[in-house]
Amino acid sequence: MARKSAEKKIGLILRRLKRKYKGEMQTSLSHGSSWELLVATILSAQCTDAQVDRATPRLFKRFPRPRDYIRLRQSQLYPYVGSLGFYRNKSKNIINAAKIVVKNFHSKVPDTMDELLTLPGVGRKTANVVLSNAFGKHYGIAIDTHCITVANRLFLYNTENAEKIERRLMEITPKRDWRNVSHLFIALGRDVCTARRKYCERCVLMDICPSSDAK
Ligand code: SF4
Repeated sequence: MARKSAEKKIGLILRRLKRKYKGEMQTSLSHGSSWELLVATILSAQCTDAQVDRATPRLFKRFPRPRDYIRLRQSQLYPYVGSLGFYRNKSKNIINAAKIVVKNFHSKVPDTMDELLTLPGVGRKTANVVLSNAFGKHYGIAIDTHCITVANRLFLYNTENAEKIERRLMEITPKRDWRNVSHLFIALGRDVCTARRKYCERCVLMDICPSSDAK
């Protein structure tokens, strides 16, 4: 699709999705600080936000700051995060991330992409979530599995590579909407454009989506 028409199309898509999902334009992960958001986002890989939100209140109450984690053994986190997939690896990453935050960043979560990417368990998606939701900084677009599904169906991208999709969406989306496009594609992906099944007859993009079954 030519760039100009892709820019027009994303504009129309975002207008419609903003009307439909206006209450879902921020992360649904509960958090009270940038550190809590970082931990919640690391924990959310391969899990739903609802599962993470059930686990984190006790965790954050017991261990609120990065320095509370640095002397922990991995297994001390299991009673709090053991219900979540890959909890062993996530526990290891959170403890090691806390050590780096305390040692290299004066106990403050860093607010640049390059610095965030030095933390274990943090890829571009997690970094983008933290940067945009905790610091209001937009270096890129947080691409999760919902975004991959939705972008492929709407733009016929035919790739599972999150970085490629992020780059393509950044090229056609105004920067002020980089955060919104992520939240809105996630909302659409959870509601009607799920990986397993499309509910095109209920989708507000039915008439402009090349993958629609309902035309
Ligand atoms: S029309 Fe169907 S395939 Fe296209 S975005 Fe909506 S649910 Fe997904």
